[in-house]
Amino acid sequence: MEMDQLVALCKRRGFLFQSSEIYGGLQGFWDYGPLGVELKRNVREAWWRDMVLAHNEQIEPAGAPSTFEMTGLDCSIIMHPQVWKCSGHFDLFHDYMVDCRESNRRYRHDQVNGRWVECDGKRVFIATTLGGEEAVAQTAQRAMKLFNLRKKHADRLTWDGPVVSLTTVEDLSVVFGPDAKEVGSLTDPREFNLMFKTIVGALGGEEDAAFLRPETAQGIFVNFKNVCDSTRVKIPFGIAQIGKSFRNEITPRNFTFRSREFEQMEIEFFCQPETSPQWYKYWRDRRFQWYQDLGLAGERLQLRDHDEDELSHYSTGTADIEYAFPFLPEGEYGELEGIAHRGDFDLRSHMEGKLDPATNPLEVEVDDDGKPRHRGSGKDLTYFDDMTKERFVPHVIEPSAGADRATLAFLCEAYQEDEAPDDKGKMQKRVYMKFNPRLAPIKAAVFPLVKKDGMPEVAQEIYGQLKPHFNTFYDAKGAVGRRYRRQDEVGTPYCITVDGQTLDDGTVTIRDRDSLEQTRVAKDECAAVIREKLGL
Ligand code: ATP
Repeated sequence: MEMDQLVALCKRRGFLFQSSEIYGGLQGFWDYGPLGVELKRNVREAWWRDMVLAHNEQIEPAGAPSTFEMTGLDCSIIMHPQVWKCSGHFDLFHDYMVDCRESNRRYRHDQVNGRWVECDGKRVFIATTLGGEEAVAQTAQRAMKLFNLRKKHADRLTWDGPVVSLTTVEDLSVVFGPDAKEVGSLTDPREFNLMFKTIVGALGGEEDAAFLRPETAQGIFVNFKNVCDSTRVKIPFGIAQIGKSFRNEITPRNFTFRSREFEQMEIEFFCQPETSPQWYKYWRDRRFQWYQDLGLAGERLQLRDHDEDELSHYSTGTADIEYAFPFLPEGEYGELEGIAHRGDFDLRSHMEGKLDPATNPLEVEVDDDGKPRHRGSGKDLTYFDDMTKERFVPHVIEPSAGADRATLAFLCEAYQEDEAPDDKGKMQKRVYMKFNPRLAPIKAAVFPLVKKDGMPEVAQEIYGQLKPHFNTFYDAKGAVGRRYRRQDEVGTPYCITVDGQTLDDGTVTIRDRDSLEQTRVAKDECAAVIREKLGL
C-alpha cells in the first residue's frame, strides 16, 4: 500500500483531517473526523479495558511474578513548573535543530542524512531528509545537479562512504542542505526545548510561565502518595493514564506519526526493587502481545530490546515496540511504544531533587554552591510494606504508548485491496479496511434492499435493536453493492440486508467483510448473532 492511498482514504471517509484546514492547516496538528474519533476511542478503550478494568487482581496472570493491582488517574495538562525541572525535561528535553538560511526550512539535526562526494577537487556532504535506498538515489541526483553534470559524466563523482547522519559532520559549511541550491546554507545546530510554554494568570510575567506536559507519566509520579493514601492498593500495582501530551517537534511529519499534540497511554508500575527485572519482562511481553491480539500480527511489528550501551545504568532493560510504517524506508521501523525499567529515578527525583543520571549510585545533581540544582518536593514518597515491615522507594516499570501512533499502525495494517463482484456480477477492485472488530468504527450496517414492500420497517427494527449496544449504521440509499463497498472501505465487519426473502420466511442476510460470505439468519435472532460474532 502506498501511504498516499491511505491518506486519501482517511480524508475522503472522515478518519483524519488536517487541523484548521480551511486556513491552510497548522503543521503537526490533526483532527479526527466522524469515523476517526470512533476508531481512536476504540483503541483507547481497548487499552483501558485490557490494562485496567478487566484486570483481575485475584489471579496471577501467566508470566507475571505475582498477582497485582491496577488503577487509574486523569491529571491536569499544566502542572507546577518544578515538576519538569525535577523530571529532567526542563534541562534535557531538547533536540538540536539546524536552519537553512536559503530555504528557511528547519530540520532536526539527527534526522538529516547524507553522503560525502568529491568532484573536481571539491568535497561536499550532500544532505537529504530521506533514509536508506531513497537517500542514496536522492543524493546521487542532487550531486549531479550541484556540479552541473550530465548523466554520462556521473563517473566524475567520487563517493566516499555510505549514507550517514549529519551529526557525524563537524563543519556545516561544506554541507549541501536538503532543500538548498548552494553549499553552506545550514546554520550550526542549536538547542531547542520541545516543551510548549504558556502563561498562567493575568500578569503574564516570566515567573508565571508554565508548560504543557510533554508526557503524562509525571502526573502519575507526583500523585503516587495521593493514590497510596486514598486507596488500599498495595505494591505491586500500576497506575494508568490516558491523555494529551504536547511536544514542539521541530519537524512534525509522516502524517500523525510525529505530531505536536498527541495522546499517550501510559502505565507506571510500582514494584519491589528485587522483582523489578521480572516485572519488566512481564510488561514488555504483555504489551507486545496486546498489539498482536488487535491485528498487528505480521512481520511489520517487532519488539526491539535496547542494547546494554543504550541503557541508563539504573535501568535493567528498555525495549521498543516498533512498526514498519509504509512511509519509512524499507527495513526501518517507527516506535509505537517504549517499555522501560526506570529504577527509582523518578520518585527519588520528586522527593530529593533532580537526580544526576550519570551518577552511580544516583545522587542529586548540585549547582556550583553544592545545592540541589532543582529542588524536589521534600515529600516522603517511600512505601512501607506492612508484611515485611520494610520501607523502600519502589522501582518503576513504564510501558508508554502513543494512541495516535497505534491508531495509525492499525489503519496502515487494515488497508487491503482485492477483487469482488459488483451488482452485475462483474469483478471489480475492492478496497477494504480489515480492522479487528473491537477497533472497527462501525460494527454493523443494516440495509433494506429496496425502499418499499415493508423492507425499511424490518431494517429499522433491527437497527433499533443493535444501536443501543454498539455503533450501527443504517443506509437505504443507492444500489446495495455500492452500500457494501462503502462499508468495506471503512472496515464495518458485518452488513445485514433485508430482502424479498425476508418478507417470505423472516430471514435476513449477514455478510462478512473479509470472506464476503453471506449467511441467512432469522431476523429476530440477528441482533444476538451479531453480538455473539463481535463478542459484545
Ligand atoms: P521519538 O523518538 O519517536 O520522538 P520518543 O522516544 O521521544 O519518540 P517517548 O518519549 O518514549 O517517545 O514517548 C512515548 C510514546 O509517545 C512513543 O512511543 C509514541 O508512541 C508517543 N509519541 C511520542 N512523541 C510523539 C509525537 N510527536 N507524536 C505522536 N506520538 C508521539
